[in-house]
Amino acid sequence: MPETKRTTTYGAEKLIDKQFPVLDDGFVRLVDYMGSDESIVQAARISYGKGTKSTSKDRGLINYLMRNRHTSPFEMCELKFHVRVPMDTWRQWIRHRTANVNEYSTRYSEAIDSMQCTKPDEWRKQATNNKQGSDGFIGADELDIPNGQELTMIERLGQNEATRIYKERIEAGVAREQARKDLPLSTYTEAYWKIDLHNLLHFLKLRMDEHAQFEIRQYANAIAEIVKAIYPLTWSAFEEYVLNSIQLSKSEILALVYHLGGGVHEGFDVKISKDILENLEKMKSIATKAGIDKDIIMGFDQKVIDML
Ligand SMILES: Cc1cc2nc3c(=O)[nH]c(=O)nc-3n(C[C@H](O)[C@H](O)[C@H](O)COP(=O)(O)OP(=O)(O)OC[C@H]3O[C@@H](n4cnc5c(N)ncnc54)[C@H](O)[C@@H]3O)c2cc1C
Repeated sequence: MPETKRTTTYGAEKLIDKQFPVLDDGFVRLVDYMGSDESIVQAARISYGKGTKSTSKDRGLINYLMRNRHTSPFEMCELKFHVRVPMDTWRQWIRHRTANVNEYSTRYSEAIDSMQCTKPDEWRKQATNNKQGSDGFIGADELDIPNGQELTMIERLGQNEATRIYKERIEAGVAREQARKDLPLSTYTEAYWKIDLHNLLHFLKLRMDEHAQFEIRQYANAIAEIVKAIYPLTWSAFEEYVLNSIQLSKSEILALVYHLGGGVHEGFDVKISKDILENLEKMKSIATKAGIDKDIIMGFDQKVIDML
């Protein structure tokens, strides 16, 4: 084999083929990759030419690109994954249209004989303040009826029955494409998923967020570990300018201006808006990750309420 002239990195080569387990039977595996932090810098220098010596240090340039949303150099890098994901999570995942996908076919082959199971202490309660989300757990030994143990037992019965019906249809000669119709969303699927780094970061921004469903967040976190190892400078810029940053709306800026002594301007609303509270939650989460003391963080709520 001729020696490769492609850009390879130690971090990436070590990760190729390594399986990152996710949920009870899922995984993420890096199959291939293209480019490195250097490829991003190289691509960016095509547009900036030689006139930007001050930003010519790689880290500085990547930070500049990320901060200013000059995104195309990040599209020069690609990652290809092999993933194994329950169908309900896959439905959310597949909404990211900028990836290339080739999925396991349950018309061509029998469905994967594995379904994602929920442990008794993993049943989440419906959130009351967010129609889409969950909040807290149905305790395994609580007075909740049914409790976690029972929910898990019923899940197992349902999954076994669905598998039995599926296998019975296959044995009866029903076409695989039709036999599968009553399989549950917990059934695992597998796919090759290839995406450029810019769009992958967009996926991670949305799917690592606390508003994303727990299950897809676990996959996003596993992918994040891979990206971090292959593109360390890009990852640190992403953490700084995207992942751990907040966006302020016009009225939030006007509220800030007011409280910094800049007076009241048209559009300023004395009420605490839902957006401000959401941003406060994000700030608290970023501060927690940065290691700021929990008591100080809890004090933010009162300070904001006093301020507004
Ligand atoms: C917390 C959360 C809750 C959600 N809830 C719902 C829900 O209730 N119902 C629902 O249907 N979806 C829901 N979604 C899915 C969401 O609306 C998006 O479809 C999904 O996140 C993919 O985002 P995207 O389009 O930005 O990504 P991608 O498809 O990867 O696209 C990346 C970017 O490329 C550009 N782009 C891609 N395709 C086009 C195009 N055809 N035209 C113009 N620009 C394009 C856009 O700038 C886009 O942001 C939810 C997502 C999240 C994270």
